[in-house]
Amino acid sequence: MPRSAIIIGAGLGGSLLAHFLGQRGWDVRVFERRSDPRARGQLGGRSINLAISARGLHALERAGLADDVKTHGIRMPGRMLHSVAGQTAFVPYSADPNRAIVSFSRSALNMMLLRAAAAHPNVRMTFEHRCVGLDEKNGTAVFEGTDGTRVEESADLVVGADGAFSAVRTHMERRERFEYSQSSLAHGYKELSIPPVTAGPHAPFAMDPKALHIWPRGGSMMIALPNPDGSFTCTLFWPFDAVPGRDDATFATVRDGQAALERFRRDYPDALPLMPELAAEFDRNPVGTMVTIRCWPWAFGGRFALLGDAAHAIVPFYGQGANASFEDCECLVDALERHPADVAHALDEYQRERKPNADAIADMAMANFVEMRDGTARLSFKWKKKLDHFLNRLMPEAYVPLYDLVSFTTVPYAAARERARRQDRTVRKAAVAVAIVAAAGVGIGLYVAARGLMSEG
Ligand code: FAD
Repeated sequence: MPRSAIIIGAGLGGSLLAHFLGQRGWDVRVFERRSDPRARGQLGGRSINLAISARGLHALERAGLADDVKTHGIRMPGRMLHSVAGQTAFVPYSADPNRAIVSFSRSALNMMLLRAAAAHPNVRMTFEHRCVGLDEKNGTAVFEGTDGTRVEESADLVVGADGAFSAVRTHMERRERFEYSQSSLAHGYKELSIPPVTAGPHAPFAMDPKALHIWPRGGSMMIALPNPDGSFTCTLFWPFDAVPGRDDATFATVRDGQAALERFRRDYPDALPLMPELAAEFDRNPVGTMVTIRCWPWAFGGRFALLGDAAHAIVPFYGQGANASFEDCECLVDALERHPADVAHALDEYQRERKPNADAIADMAMANFVEMRDGTARLSFKWKKKLDHFLNRLMPEAYVPLYDLVSFTTVPYAAARERARRQDRTVRKAAVAVAIVAAAGVGIGLYVAARGLMSEG
């Protein structure tokens, strides 16, 4: 008798998990709130492009699905920093020029995963059904169709992969001793675009496509990622509200397209001529919110579990949310394979392995926001990266910068952060030792010179 699973949410994590379990012979039912995107040829909502890195690629490779991302994704080996004066500086992500994060359309990725999952005869998908409740005692999940009909299903495993505002997690919040925290970022985001220079296939890009472009402006920033059609998707990260005494652009003070044009003239003058639709897009596109969500436990009742953003939504500044969801999928299927007859045990191993890593990447993503919007504008940032890369070239085994550990390896996030802290401490101690030796050298030199002068006198 095959084991059965219900997956709630056919987003990035839910679809990959359905594919993994489908490959392993599970009887899988997926319930998704939205309509079937395969009918429309695309997903609903706005399409952002994602930076996929080593962790995501590793999971996709295991799933046999990495080729598309590798072939059609655009490699970004570094960031291109744009100053207010319009000067640009390229800062590589790694000392190894072959290492790059990959820009790929989120909706294309989701569609590819959905199709792969749906290709298994043992994976059935039901769209336009949202989860409205769980019955722990009977091990069932309850869904409501758009016409109001209710469906109740049970399975050996029920996974809530229903995103940052998860209905499954909402159910868990009512349980005793469930820990939950949500912190909303004071910044919102708005999507804009830079079209190709000319229309048509292979149209030239308006900027270098081999980079993630950043316009750091202290309290705010804009970024742009390349698309295969020659355009860039830009994301504006501005505070929602004005802070007294500060003159940052905010969504409260720059309210419409006309005001945005003026602000761009001042803050992003080199981008403005490349954005003919700026005012219209600014008026049309909504402002999104970003949250960090932490909770515990992720598993309960011996069969229910959370995965991806439902368990650990993070801010997008390390480009790791989807990558982390894919790692969750790998970790969960590995645990289920280790304990084929004991789902509860597998879920416990899964949550214990992933929770510290989810917490670590949540912290690092917040820290990276400050670095991206403010740190990258400073000269010290470029020198720190040069030093990082120099040390990495000198001692490739002993010194691996944090960015490399997070984006170009699958070292667990918590271990990566710990290792980077150790390395930083060693470098700081070495710098102090060098400074002391240099100061001692200067002191001895001065002493010898003074003695010489005195004896001459
Ligand atoms: P989702 O992909 O959100 O999927 C959840 C699914 O559940 C959806 O299909 C939804 O319709 C469905 N659903 C919701 N409620 C119900 C319900 N009650 N019943 C049934 N179905 C339901 N990550 C990266 O790795 N790299 C990046 O560069 C990156 N950039 C980002 C930029 C921005 C601006 C944002 C906001 C996020 C970014 N992320 C990035 C994060 C990434 O998008 C998420 O981490 C990822 O989509 C999480 O996958 P998921 O499957 O957990 O959730």
